[in-house]
Amino acid sequence: MRLRHIPGSEEEIANSPYVVSNPEEKKGRWSEFFGNDNPIEIEVGMGKGRFIMELASKNPGINYVGIERYCSVLLRGIQKRQEMELSNIYFMCVDARELSDIFAPGEVKKIYLNFSDPWPKDRHAKRRLTSEPFMEVYNKILAPDGVVEFKTDNRGLFDYSLESVPAAGWEIREYTYDLHHSDMAEGNIMTEYEEKFSSMGNAIFKLVAERKR
Ligand code: SAM
Repeated sequence: MRLRHIPGSEEEIANSPYVVSNPEEKKGRWSEFFGNDNPIEIEVGMGKGRFIMELASKNPGINYVGIERYCSVLLRGIQKRQEMELSNIYFMCVDARELSDIFAPGEVKKIYLNFSDPWPKDRHAKRRLTSEPFMEVYNKILAPDGVVEFKTDNRGLFDYSLESVPAAGWEIREYTYDLHHSDMAEGNIMTEYEEKFSSMGNAIFKLVAERKR
């Protein structure tokens, strides 16, 4: 994703009612923050947030938190969010490495990873959001029956994930090398990247992982 500094972005983010500032203060208290006991689902690396905002509008009985490392990218999501009447979604500008400081054990029901950066060089493997260190972070915050759903069009990252996820102590519940023409397509919500790459003819890969019982 092309990054550029957007003048005034830090201020707009700091003042936005849709962005959680000091999210670590909500750890163990997210239900109180949302004002209900609905399950909480998060997207890590939400980009401009189209996917998670559509999910939130379709599922008012679920609470959503969109996580994006770069505030300049998050700003685009906030602008779109202002046009929508939703009470079940917030954003935060943090690195996924910090998630266990933000959510208590079992506080998250589902984690979405969509078109995560592939980091193709071996020496950068630990930066991939499906690498063992990140799976350990997800393990700390997911409910016992929680799942991680991962979509990408990057074959290298997908093949890597089919190995790294079980190696981290997870089970792959289901996967496909052609999401849009598979049984897993029902209810699929397209992300910005998914729309772009599938319109170029790329197949979309998806896996769903749960903890080994
Ligand atoms: N999910 C969106 C989609 O499918 O259209 C955006 C995909 S974009 C390629 C990946 C996004 O993940 C980028 O915006 C990037 O900043 C974010 N990201 C990468 N690593 C991250 C991390 N460790 N924590 C939070 N966000 C991260």
